Formats: sequence, C-alpha cells, structure tokens
Amino acid sequence: MSVPKGAVVDDRDLVAKLARRDPAAEDWVTSRLREALERVAGAVATAEAHDEVAVSALYEILQAEERVLAGWDGRAPFLAYLTVVAARVCLHEGDRWSRLEGPLPASGERLREHLRDADIAAHVAGETDERLAGDVLRHLDGCRRCRRIVEAALAALTAQ
Ligand SMILES: [Zn+2]
Repeated sequence: MSVPKGAVVDDRDLVAKLARRDPAAEDWVTSRLREALERVAGAVATAEAHDEVAVSALYEILQAEERVLAGWDGRAPFLAYLTVVAARVCLHEGDRWSRLEGPLPASGERLREHLRDADIAAHVAGETDERLAGDVLRHLDGCRRCRRIVEAALAALTAQ
C-alpha cells in the first residue's frame, strides 16, 4: 500500500482554502473526489449501478461539505481521508441501490457506533497510535460495514 505522506502542511492550506470556498481549491478537490468515487464505485457497485452510485455519492458528500471538512483531523493525508469518506458514502449508496432489488440487511448494522472517517483514514494511512490501532482492529474484527470501507478505500488508494 502506498499512501502519500508528508503533505500535511499543504493539506492544512488546502482545507483552509476550502473552508473559505476558494474556487480553485474546490475545483481541484471535486475532481479528486470524482476520481476516488469512480474507483470506489467500480469496486463496490454492479456495472448498472456504477454511475448512479458515483453521482449520488458525490451529491451526498458535497451537501455535507462542512461536516466532511470538520471531520478531518490531520493525522492522515487529506486525500486519504476523502477517499475513506468516498468509500463509506459509496458503500451506503450501493447498499441502498441493491436493496431496491434484494432483501433489507439486518437492522442491527445501523444501530451500532461505527469508526469515524478520520480514524479509518488514520488506520489506512498507518498513522494510528498503539491504543487506537487496537480499538480499530477490534472494531474491524466484528464489523463488516467498517471492514468494507477500509477495503474499498485501500483499493481506491492503491489504484492511484
Ligand atoms: Zn463499524
């Protein structure tokens, strides 16, 4: 796995620009996000659902932009974090899509407390401390939802 590291200063600058709605920064991030969504949707959705999933996931993320920006904590590179967000939203949209054709998943999955995107991003980027790494691994051991997010994000990041 190769996640680019050491771009933290640039990332903070980028996120500050996004927070004040700098158009060039927004364009750049939106096109990186589109690429990430394409890769994740390709991995998680059927060919028929692919475009629908990528487009609705992009819409969901742009709607929640402020929350997404506020959730990044600087441990993982911003793009790794964004890829985790893309993976989570894509998987959710993909599940919603497949539910139109199949049975509902067990409702227990929705109620538990899941890993935060920033924790998954830190895990994916190898930036978790020992204690958190233990918590993350324990959670991943018992949670298929978060495991799928990690796998989809890693697949998208290594395809770069
Ligand atoms: Zn979980």
